[in-house]
Parts: sequence; structure tokens; C-alpha cells
Amino acid sequence: MQIGVLALQGDFDAHRRRLEELGAEVVLVKKPEQLDAIDGLVIPGGESGTFLKLLGEEGFEKLKEFVHAKPTFGTCAGAILLANEVENPKQKGLGAIDIRIRRNAYGRQIDSSIREGKLLQSSLNDQPGSPLEMVFIRAPKIEHVGAAVEVIATEGTDNIPVAVRQGKVMATTFHPELSDDSRVHRVFLDLVTEAR
Ligand code: GLN
Repeated sequence: MQIGVLALQGDFDAHRRRLEELGAEVVLVKKPEQLDAIDGLVIPGGESGTFLKLLGEEGFEKLKEFVHAKPTFGTCAGAILLANEVENPKQKGLGAIDIRIRRNAYGRQIDSSIREGKLLQSSLNDQPGSPLEMVFIRAPKIEHVGAAVEVIATEGTDNIPVAVRQGKVMATTFHPELSDDSRVHRVFLDLVTEAR
């Protein structure tokens, strides 16, 4: 099983390490044609606007084709790229998950923090409400989820969705690669195994 990590910018190396710890073979994806050889892809955090610039029109279209066909997991900026609708400012998305997401939505004081959220019982995880450490860095907020979207983790007293999935595509607004807990990546690898 070959998992690609989009390595244009951002914290791709932490994902590489985590995936390798879990036994996956990891390819750092720097060129669009590398997408042809992988079974799943992680789009890391970073700056989503910069990703768009670095991808260019052709890279964006190739990536769009991939995320509509194969398992993909986006964290933070990666989640922003995967969304249907992006606010603050408006920005184009790959349309792989029916969510509306607002960039840099937590305000200055708490935009970067470590919080404890809940991993929900879901089709991907059978441990109801188990606590999960979540690292947020200039995090976006998922403001709306469409009917086809399953919420797999929430955070805060108002249970804001922070991990979601639609079909073979997953997104988190936090950075699971920066916590010791490897459950979220394991969930993604299970998704890739299932899809093969
Ligand atoms: N603030 C970034 C953006 O809007 C995301 C931050 C992150 O990926 N840690 O793209």
C-alpha cells in the first residue's frame, strides 16, 4: 500500500513519519504524475492559498481528479483545499467534501492551541466519545456540513465538527500528526485498505 503525502510545503514530514510508524510505504508527492502510482493521499497543513499557487491550474485539476477517485485525508490547510466552499476569503476548493469552512476562524488568542475533543462512534471508529488530543494551528472552522457528510470528531461545548468524512475522503481542522495518538491516521489507512 503506497500512501502519498503532498510535499509542496507545510508539515508533510510529520505525516510521513506517522504513516511509516503505522507500516505504510510513503511517497512524497511533488509532481502531479506521482498521483498515478499511489493508493491514497494526505494533504498536510500549511497555507491553503500557497498550495493553490504552487499547484497551478494543471496541478489543481490533476489533484481534483485524484481526490474524487481515491482515498484522501486533508489536515487543516488540506481540509480547506478539499472543501466545497471556502470563506475568509473566498477561495476555490476541490469539492471533495460537502462542507463550508472558514479560514483562520478562531481569532488571534486561541487560533493555536492544544485542546481535548471527542472521537465519536462512527462507521470508522467504534469507541464512542473517546477523548482525543487535538492540536490547532491557525485553524479553520467547519461552519456547515452537508447531508452526505459524517462527523467523526467534535470539539468544545458546542460540539463543532473537527473531523469529517464523505465517502473515501476525510478532513480534520486539527493536526493529528502532531499528537502521539495515532488513531486518526489508522482510521485513514483502514479507509485506504477498504477502497483497494
Ligand atoms: N491558516 C491556514 C490556511 O488558511 C491553515 C493553517 C494550517 O494548516 N495549520 O490555509
